[in-house]
Amino acid sequence: MSETTAATDAVGSSTQDHISLAEHWVASNYHPLPVVISRAEGVWVTDVDGRRYLDALAGYSALNFGHGHPALTAAARDQLDRVTLTSRAFHSDRLGPFCRDLAALAGKDLVLPMNTGAEAVETAIKVARKWGYEVKGVPEDQARIIVMAGNFHGRTTTIVSFSDDPIAHDHYGPYTPGFDTVPYGDLAALEAAITDDTVAVLLEPIQGEGGVIIPPEGYLTAVRELTTRRGVLMLADEIQSGLGRTGRTFACDLDDVVPDVYILGKALGGGIVPVSAVVADRSVLGVITPGSHGSTFGGNPLAAAVGQAVVGLLATGEYQERAQRLGKVLADGLGGLVGHGIDAVRIRGLWAGVDIDPALMTGREACRRLLDGGVLVKDTHGSTIRLAPPLVIEEDEVDLLVTTLGQVLR
Ligand SMILES: *Cc1c(COP(=O)(O)O)cnc(C)c1O
Repeated sequence: MSETTAATDAVGSSTQDHISLAEHWVASNYHPLPVVISRAEGVWVTDVDGRRYLDALAGYSALNFGHGHPALTAAARDQLDRVTLTSRAFHSDRLGPFCRDLAALAGKDLVLPMNTGAEAVETAIKVARKWGYEVKGVPEDQARIIVMAGNFHGRTTTIVSFSDDPIAHDHYGPYTPGFDTVPYGDLAALEAAITDDTVAVLLEPIQGEGGVIIPPEGYLTAVRELTTRRGVLMLADEIQSGLGRTGRTFACDLDDVVPDVYILGKALGGGIVPVSAVVADRSVLGVITPGSHGSTFGGNPLAAAVGQAVVGLLATGEYQERAQRLGKVLADGLGGLVGHGIDAVRIRGLWAGVDIDPALMTGREACRRLLDGGVLVKDTHGSTIRLAPPLVIEEDEVDLLVTTLGQVLR
């Protein structure tokens, strides 16, 4: 680094300077905790003052393999020197291998690559509607999709149309029609909501933003059975729950359920580039024809190279096994805190929703104190905090996470 650059970096680079700059220039669509990260490796991030924090949010599960996983950064660096964008007007030597491997991981025929999670959800909605008209025979413009109360599927106009979170939803109308909401986990309500025009049920197998809400035992199996019987597609949004987080490749695997459509994102890009995908059999995804859907960046060579490397990591089963094993350690640790500042814990693998005793403090306040204690986490919905450390976390780091939480709540 030249002396001039070093000097420039040193001037006005305190935490408060960076926060002031961001508060002045960045639209306030987030409410970040007061930490300014400048470097990261594995499960640890370092702020501009050189202080280290254990990252127990992991980019909302986009960083399942930790920061700077060597296999993923190598794949990205290597691809940067070759070709990064071709557009889908031409083939690249990266897209076929990526989609082949991802389809194999999911046990499906076809992959439709996109970029962000919301785009993949939008894609699945479009596919389900087109399938409804062309395969199921629903009258034009009558297709309906059943969604769950408390859902989170992204931020586009169509997706917020069926969000019941007023902050995400209000003042963004007019809203996209065609969605029916039922209570999450209520099979009878779902069955009652299905009509001849229903083309799909869209759900998160575990609701992430909702606070790691796990449906009742047997629910997903019953949804699978019901949707099959009624000729309705089951669309599983595994953007946050999938790719190793719960101790299985997909959260649906925990119940041995195979949906018609997997919607993937977040960790698929290895925390390096946005990569999302819709994965399904030809009988469903075959309705997409040239020009009927697309994306300039979807499936670009850089994204495909990173995505294929991610699939390569998951194909070994090593990370799923880690999430299972260390998830037990986390569950034991958190279980010991129930009744000591924690009202309830919901956990699958290395993914926990922790309800803080509201009499003690808010979720935000708990996150502030954890930050002071050297742990990064994010609250969701008032008094719940979500723990989702990278799956590369070690056992002593899980212990540190639990110990710090215990201290904060004391
Ligand atoms: C994050 C998330 C999305 C949206 O993904 P973006 O990449 O932010 O558009 C959709 N569904 C679920 C379940 C998510 O967790």
